Amino acid sequence: MKVLVINAGSSSLKYQLFDMDNVMVLAKGLCERIGIDGSNLQHKNLVKNISEKIEKPMKDHSDAIKMVIDALTDKEYGVIKDMSEIGAVGHRVVHGGEYFADSYIIDGKVKEALERCVPLAPLHNPPNITGIEACEKLMPNVPQVAVFDTAFHQTMPPKAYMYAIPYELYEKYKIRKYGFHGTSHKYVANEAAKMLGKPIEELKIITCHLGNGSSITAVKNGKCVDTSMGFTPLDGVVMGTRAGSLDPAVVTFLMKNEHLDVVGVDNLLNKKSGVFGVSGISSDFRDLTAAAKDGNQHAKLALDMFTYSVKKRIGSAAAVMGGVDAVVFTAGIGENDAAARAAIVEDLEFLGISIDAEKNKVRGEKTDISADGAKTRTLVIPTNEELMIALDTVRLVENK
Ligand code: AMP
Repeated sequence: MKVLVINAGSSSLKYQLFDMDNVMVLAKGLCERIGIDGSNLQHKNLVKNISEKIEKPMKDHSDAIKMVIDALTDKEYGVIKDMSEIGAVGHRVVHGGEYFADSYIIDGKVKEALERCVPLAPLHNPPNITGIEACEKLMPNVPQVAVFDTAFHQTMPPKAYMYAIPYELYEKYKIRKYGFHGTSHKYVANEAAKMLGKPIEELKIITCHLGNGSSITAVKNGKCVDTSMGFTPLDGVVMGTRAGSLDPAVVTFLMKNEHLDVVGVDNLLNKKSGVFGVSGISSDFRDLTAAAKDGNQHAKLALDMFTYSVKKRIGSAAAVMGGVDAVVFTAGIGENDAAARAAIVEDLEFLGISIDAEKNKVRGEKTDISADGAKTRTLVIPTNEELMIALDTVRLVENK
């Protein structure tokens, strides 16, 4: 079966076409500036290794999906003859609230629930819904599947996901920890179990998704029992531009003393904080590493704060699971930054975690970087959220 994976943002849309019989990507691309002047589609045919940039107005997501289908079926740079070759479409959806603990085939009921989740992710869910509706319009007979960033975390027990605020506020607004990056955590946890040669149901795995946004998840017997992100992706470890966890009193103090309104404080904590805010230089770890080497103390402090915050989350994940069999590093920093990995696991020998400096030199490759004899395995596993979406889509469509 060929599966089209769609990740729709407010003015962009990423896609990948998978041949799931051979588990390979045939084509992928990105539509940019949807609804804005200068819209364009960058398409890559991975079978023939040709790239094409098409500049054409796209007034909305329907136009974008239509252009994607035109590109996929193009005689020169396309990969399929006809749209009918697409057996199913898998959509990345950011927030599934408490409605979705798994991926779902989209029908009227699912769409109603998606709408009800909009207040929880006002920036992300509306474009996701627009992408789904555009595909439904153009491919009315093709099953559409929604795969949620939050679904994998729905197995957390109430003691992990509740906040200690008046209970009626949870009932009224559904304020609780949801967790994000679930598709990535699920994918790498399953890959880790394969690397260890054991059923995931018998393992305690800590997955560290470290990229622009970062989160750490405790996966016990294949199920998420706790995660570092919360009600929104602002919570948890120090991130590129996001503050991560801080004393909530800082928010009211800033509002009062910096005369910030709700939008101002939201902007400060989401876009101007994290390693960017501390270093005053960049949110990119490559820039920070170079600056720290040149003696920039703020860059060094930012990197230290990041690795320290991840280390603490690994400790708490091990505590809630009563142990750990494997720690997995994934995403931009987790897959590529050997120095960050080394700093994070330093002093964690008491958990059986110890890495081999030589093996840790790896970048973006599935590797066991544990030191010989380490009780707990430390693994680098490149994430693949699109493949996970395609796998879930096939699973649901074939079992319909
Ligand atoms: P992601 O959100 O997963 O795409 O991760 C993006 C982030 O990964 C970038 O902002 C960098 O901080 C980091 N990153 C990517 N490549 C490298 C690298 N080679 N070394 C260190 N950090 C990297």
